[in-house]
Amino acid sequence: MATYKNKTDLHMHTSSSFDGNYPASMMCEAAVEAGLETIAFTDHFDVDFYERHNLDFRQKSSYEDICSAQDVFSDKIRILRGIEMGQPTYDLALTEKSLERFEYDFIIGSIHNLRQMPDFGDLKYTEMTLDEIHALLDKYFAEELILAKWNGFDTLAHLTYPIRYIIQAGIEGVDLSRYDDITDEIFKTLIANGKALEINTSGLRQPIGKTMPTENYVRRFKELGGELLTLGSDAHFTEHVGAGIDQGYEIAESCGFRYVTCFKKRKPVQVKIEK
Ligand SMILES: [Zn+2]
Ligand SMILES: [Zn+2]
Repeated sequence: MATYKNKTDLHMHTSSSFDGNYPASMMCEAAVEAGLETIAFTDHFDVDFYERHNLDFRQKSSYEDICSAQDVFSDKIRILRGIEMGQPTYDLALTEKSLERFEYDFIIGSIHNLRQMPDFGDLKYTEMTLDEIHALLDKYFAEELILAKWNGFDTLAHLTYPIRYIIQAGIEGVDLSRYDDITDEIFKTLIANGKALEINTSGLRQPIGKTMPTENYVRRFKELGGELLTLGSDAHFTEHVGAGIDQGYEIAESCGFRYVTCFKKRKPVQVKIEK
């Protein structure tokens, strides 16, 4: 398999995330082992689960853990201080107040659930009609557009997130073309605002076997003028650090990208794609 120089993996979680498993130091060891040049720790901050996830505490412990790892690993790997803001638009006051607490290099914007609803991974798609699933996806993409327009993040993560769960549930016949207009609008908004699109490679190691979003969306983003693209494994375990990143680079190249994007103090830095 092709290996790329200066590889970046800008999406991973430490044990400070409610669903993380390893401290930043162990994830760093795995990242060095995987030959990565730059990583970002992006622990979950799902604003609508602020109390339930004890985020006041977790955010601080995450940030401190990242800073200590930076001290220890500074000569081995570049580490970005990141955060994954889930559903930030559902409580903008809390989002803005929380983001002011620490100095981040990189902020991911995500939607994992609709308002007052469980995570898309916890819905029972086999008990829904196709019309209900389409209606659910209408709402999902509408929330992604609201998120894109809010613009308080650096990269838009795992667009099409619910699709993997719908496919995993064995549902057939979902018409994705009905969302082409709104995904175009999301991409145009990102491009106009100078924000990045993420290729999330976690789906490559799951039954769906594809990135989020899939290559056709990445190509469309490029066609519309997109230049900023981040790659992320979304690792929650050391063994997944850097997983699928090479395939992410291949997709980026085949869609015509010559750079992937890194961030420093929230400013994009283009890194040439080179083997
Ligand atoms: Zn996420
Ligand atoms: Zn994540």
